[in-house]
Amino acid sequence: MIDLHSHTRFSDGSTTPAELICLAASAGARAVAITDHDTVDGLPEGRRAAQESGIEFVDGVEISADFQPGTMHILGYCFDPSSKELNLALEKLRVARSERNPQIASRLRALGLEVHYDEVVGLAGNEVVGRPHFARVMVTKGYVASIKEAFDRFLAKGQAAYVEKHRLSPADSIELIRKAGGVAILAHPYQMKLSDEDTEDQIKRLKDQGLDGIEAIYSRLNSVEREKYISLADRLGMLVSGGSDFHGSFKPDISLVTGLGDLQVPYEALGKIKALAALRSRPSLT
Ligand code: AMP
Ligand code: ZN
Ligand code: FE
Ligand code: FE
Repeated sequence: MIDLHSHTRFSDGSTTPAELICLAASAGARAVAITDHDTVDGLPEGRRAAQESGIEFVDGVEISADFQPGTMHILGYCFDPSSKELNLALEKLRVARSERNPQIASRLRALGLEVHYDEVVGLAGNEVVGRPHFARVMVTKGYVASIKEAFDRFLAKGQAAYVEKHRLSPADSIELIRKAGGVAILAHPYQMKLSDEDTEDQIKRLKDQGLDGIEAIYSRLNSVEREKYISLADRLGMLVSGGSDFHGSFKPDISLVTGLGDLQVPYEALGKIKALAALRSRPSLT
């Protein structure tokens, strides 16, 4: 089995890339992608550790696109991590984060929660500070009992401490990944919060914009839902991907590779992603 969706301390996961690869090895994974939010800086460490463990490593990234009513995250795989254009765009997204984050802290203080941005930065210890870091500080200070409660009551879209940040459009997110030589996959499609019919229409539009596939095999989906997205991908002639969305202690119920216990992502999914990426980088073979 494999896992194509995971986060490390380079964004809002709790493990280092090397620790994550150790967990993957213990779980018997054949291949793993690290897909941190808005950064590719953890990939070299992950790749080195994977080489030592005899696990196949896949370069990945997760970009949050501008979308309503839910959220739309685009995963990129098998791109050139040294692409200038990609790195510049990700840097801009990190700047947008650092503009948004202090505003979340002030909103929380206005609501009577003494949360200071420097504490949150200190906890994150990296360039990509995200809402889960705020949630952890809120738990530590006793304002909420869990990270989930912090989101449900304060941090989730629509709650009082939610602050928008500048995002790329879906089309630009896809183009960024494709221009860096990568394959673009729609993460956890249900989080767009659309009806089945609107989900299909939306994915068709994204496909016209260059989207390659759908993350149909995901921790928080049951087997019926997974089948639904797999058959949608088949119908639209798109790839199927899958992963746990492991965040370590920031999402304590989700394990790497096995998700909530029933996750099984076949190697074949990665085989197809790699084949597509290879075809694109050597178009003479088509
Ligand atoms: P950010 O990129 O800082 O806006 O935060 C995104 C992170 O927050 C991702 O790891 C999401 O999985 C997590 N997240 C977003 N909404 C929720 C929610 N309602 N409950 C728990 N985690 C969430
Ligand atoms: Zn995350
Ligand atoms: Fe996501
Ligand atoms: Fe994720």
